[in-house]
Amino acid sequence: MNFNVEEIRKDFPILNKKIYNKPLVYLDNGATTQKPAVVIDRVHQFYSQFNSSIHRGVHYLSEQATEEYEKARKTVQRFINAKHDYEIIFTSGTTGSINGLAFSFGEKYVHKGDEIIITEMEHHANIVPWQMLCERKEAQLKILPFNNKGDLEIEKLNNLISDKTKLISVTYVSNALGTINPVKDIIDLAHKQNIPVLIDGAQAIQHISIDVQELDCDFFVFSGHKMYGPTGIGILYGKENWLENLPPFQGGGDMVDVVTFEKTTFNALPFKFEAGTTNYIGAIGMAEALHYIENTGIHSINKHEEEILGYATHNLEIIGGITMYGTSEKKSSIISFLINGIHQYDAGMVLDKMGIAVRTGTHCAQPVMQHFNIDGTIRVSIGLYNNKSDVDRLCEGIIKVKEMFS
Ligand code: PLP
Repeated sequence: MNFNVEEIRKDFPILNKKIYNKPLVYLDNGATTQKPAVVIDRVHQFYSQFNSSIHRGVHYLSEQATEEYEKARKTVQRFINAKHDYEIIFTSGTTGSINGLAFSFGEKYVHKGDEIIITEMEHHANIVPWQMLCERKEAQLKILPFNNKGDLEIEKLNNLISDKTKLISVTYVSNALGTINPVKDIIDLAHKQNIPVLIDGAQAIQHISIDVQELDCDFFVFSGHKMYGPTGIGILYGKENWLENLPPFQGGGDMVDVVTFEKTTFNALPFKFEAGTTNYIGAIGMAEALHYIENTGIHSINKHEEEILGYATHNLEIIGGITMYGTSEKKSSIISFLINGIHQYDAGMVLDKMGIAVRTGTHCAQPVMQHFNIDGTIRVSIGLYNNKSDVDRLCEGIIKVKEMFS
């Protein structure tokens, strides 16, 4: 399929917007992506024509809504090549997925003295829930460090693992450094010692083709809003065996079989993990976003984004006076940097006035900033609709920032 970025841009209404009378350059895709018209229309169409609570009613609208929701589940299953549709749990997002799993897994499998391994480059969403679990259970959180290029010191993993290790949780792509981690190697190594692995796919799913069976990960999580879908919806994928054996992390309607005051039995997968009225409109919108990515082609998207990443990295470097954070050979769509002598926040404010949206701050990855002893970076994160002209505008903006503060 031919990838034509100018045609793609027409699919995203917000890209026509002017900010302070300047055409928008949106380079904050790591935080959230913009939505194509097909997703916006689908959500609008669903509310205006099919809205009804799922799984509950015998009436026409409820049946329609249920059918579309379950179709959305199958779309996600196909997209990540899960073995079964009931291994796909709809949640509120990556954060919701990890918190739910940390609670559920922790209740059953983590006891005093046990250990959980994460890495130094995790988003807070993949740190804090494990920390909370470790406090609750008097377990220990162990950290796999990264080097100054932003590569995990994978050779140290074997020594971190012990017979107390209950789970390893690692991000596929770092949201603060852009590093693509060797997750397959980590999974293989962990499995040799029967340790399950959770992959945080929040920054990978929109850029890299994901096959959970090939990866052989035990859990994989991601958010709809970072992959051109709606907010408030995300996925917890788990292998059947794990999900069958884990307790639910929320109680309420829909997740039960029989409820009496003496005892409650739980529904089958996946409903056991979907208590209450789920964000079914979000799920349907997310499936539309997945269709959009499928129709565009994830490999074409990946190739295009790599080109823009290379172009942006090169053009930022030749400006001079810029320090890059995260210089791994294997990177995806994220450039973290500082303009020497200029605070990231000041730079971000000036860029904003030129209609250029970048992220400044710690990117919810404070340990990454602590590693480099800085209080934040400017983060440029690329989406499928970014073009070379966006990069040119960014570079012009940065040159202007340097002039202003020199
Ligand atoms: N994990 C990573 C790597 C992320 O980049 C993010 C968000 O930036 C999250 C988790 C949390 O995602 P959400 O806020 O959609 O739950």
